[in-house]
Amino acid sequence: MFIHSFVLNKNKKMLVLIFAIIVVFLSSSLIIYFSFSHDEETSDSSDESSSNDYIKWVDFNVTCEAMKLTSALDIESHNSVNNDNVVVYNWIELLSYLACKNGGNFKNFKSSDLDDLVSKLESGESMEDLTSSMKYYSYYFEAYSAVLGGFIGNYSIDSSASSLDSNTVSFESKYGLKVFLPIAKNYSFSHYDDFGNSRSYGFRRTHLGNDLMGSIGTPIIAVESGIVEHLGWNQYGGWRIGIRSFDGKRYYYYAHLRKDHPYVANLEEGSTVLAGDVIGYLGMTGYSIKENVNNINVPHLHFGMQLIFDESQVDSPNEIWIDVYEIVEFLKQNRSEVVLSDSESKDYSRKYSFFEEGLE
Ligand SMILES: [Zn+2]
Repeated sequence: MFIHSFVLNKNKKMLVLIFAIIVVFLSSSLIIYFSFSHDEETSDSSDESSSNDYIKWVDFNVTCEAMKLTSALDIESHNSVNNDNVVVYNWIELLSYLACKNGGNFKNFKSSDLDDLVSKLESGESMEDLTSSMKYYSYYFEAYSAVLGGFIGNYSIDSSASSLDSNTVSFESKYGLKVFLPIAKNYSFSHYDDFGNSRSYGFRRTHLGNDLMGSIGTPIIAVESGIVEHLGWNQYGGWRIGIRSFDGKRYYYYAHLRKDHPYVANLEEGSTVLAGDVIGYLGMTGYSIKENVNNINVPHLHFGMQLIFDESQVDSPNEIWIDVYEIVEFLKQNRSEVVLSDSESKDYSRKYSFFEEGLE
């Protein structure tokens, strides 16, 4: 009895000891876990507090010519994957390198600078090595990625000759330019670089976009896919649409749309639109507190692009609007063809279906 209880007692002591060891082990690992995750949190939040260093200003002056040359290298190299020796180019990297060479002013752009860069890359030098000593390379890369990030990539387009006449839709996957001119194909327009010109309606301000003069009713095309963020009346823009790119970096602004029938049917805030979709019609509304008033002298589309690196830049004195004149010139090569799709509502829609990779 005595011996038995002693043994039990000894076993109990062992159990207590083992239990204590487990408790110490668990609690110490918990402490380690929490202190580590706490460290992560504190470093995260310190990143946030110091993430005041987002880009505050971009002067986008890349010329249509520089965009054409670099995008062709990007697209051609991606489409010639059968040849293992081909260098695969990223046009945003090429443009960022060139910006460092020309001091951020593409008026100084020389195609020979691009030729030099290409031959260096072809001879095996890496972009990383070539740009390692360039102080502003990462700035230009981030800024140009914000402007051009959605322009080139994978998409599918209906390649059947006339998709509306037949029910046969044959999608073809492509890598290439997947943004469109904001004016539908076969509709004429004119424009000049009017960014920064003064405007007198309301308070004195500068013109933060590009006016595309055309006929009332011309179908307006979504340049890039995205989500409709604003739709309705604005005293400056009249009937207008604001569309945010999926990556959140670009806000496309289309203004002065047509009186009485500004938008394509069923478009509303929160709608998803695809690049090349008809979104509305050219008009001359705006410059009026009262809705649906034509107070613009010349029918035109006001087209603008705002860059957003941080949400605090939306609706603030720190908005970044870029000059899109050269971009419009660049987009002339890709226009969306439209057809009258609803004779009752007199709405137009795109002729060729289009899908972007990663979207349903
Ligand atoms: Zn304008």
